[in-house]
Amino acid sequence: MSEKSQFITQWESGWLQVKVPLPFSLKWVNAYLLPEDSEKTGWTLIDPGLRTEDTEVFWTEVLSELSIGWQDIISIVITHHHPDHYGMAGWFQKRTGAQVWMSQAALDSARRLWGENETFSEELTEAFLRHGLAEELREDMLVHMRGFRNKVSPQPVNPSILQPGERFRMGNMHWEILGGEGHAPGHLIFHDQAGGKLLCGDQVLPDISPNIGWMPDGDPDPLGSFLTGLGEMRHLEVAMVFPGHRDPFLQYRLRIEELLEHHERRLQKMAELIGNEDRTAFEVCELLFGTRLRSNAHNLRFALAETIAHLIQLEKRGIVVRIESGHAGDGNARIGYRRVSTS
Ligand SMILES: [Zn+2]
Repeated sequence: MSEKSQFITQWESGWLQVKVPLPFSLKWVNAYLLPEDSEKTGWTLIDPGLRTEDTEVFWTEVLSELSIGWQDIISIVITHHHPDHYGMAGWFQKRTGAQVWMSQAALDSARRLWGENETFSEELTEAFLRHGLAEELREDMLVHMRGFRNKVSPQPVNPSILQPGERFRMGNMHWEILGGEGHAPGHLIFHDQAGGKLLCGDQVLPDISPNIGWMPDGDPDPLGSFLTGLGEMRHLEVAMVFPGHRDPFLQYRLRIEELLEHHERRLQKMAELIGNEDRTAFEVCELLFGTRLRSNAHNLRFALAETIAHLIQLEKRGIVVRIESGHAGDGNARIGYRRVSTS
């Protein structure tokens, strides 16, 4: 067995799943290579991965092993803007000249996070502080956020926009494009109505629940959007799911039910953890996930965003109320949550 073959799995129709390594607990992101032989012959590359020196070497070796030349990659499709999916889009575009496809919301998000003079790292950190993040973690969070810029550079030039509701041809097949919310703005999902294939990025994952990505001035209720979206997606005819992490799987509807149940249980758990206290999201987050996250800004960011998203949903359901104290101008504004008395 050659060195890179353990990272490559061939599926029917000649599809290739490439497990691109990640320096996080997720371990790898799935890139997919779909063969094309209609107008042009070559390959469509979906979600190439996080750009690091290691992944540059990785892809160079993988393509050489597959005897795929750079110019054989004729289009690059991005399901959503998260760095582990989008990060190498520009790097690949430079080497291949391929057209890059993504949603407008993904492009806007990438610009907001990693555009010139970005202020998002600061905005997110300040918002987390209002939600109770310990002051001594401010710097870690800022450094962590800013550290992603080089992992998405260079960014793609003039990407083409895909919209939910459109049809798109790739891998010699026609796909219906659906939009997913909650995990990332304008997340794209590709459904093959004829054959029941679903390329769904991180919207539905096996074994792990997709992170619910709350951010300031983003979706005001990302968990609500995620749950509504899952409810709508439940009706699709799907035989095989090709997700962004872990391995392709069969039990699509079962997995959707599990994810819906997971969030109901977590909502209930958070309401219990609030108990009779006023709690900030950071306090609830530490009660739920433990204080060890303090040493891992990456995991802490996901856990805190996830907690805020659940608290917002609990508020929508009338189970908790949001309490604001202090003044934003003094930097001592705090947001907390209290259970609504049922007695
Ligand atoms: Zn993601």
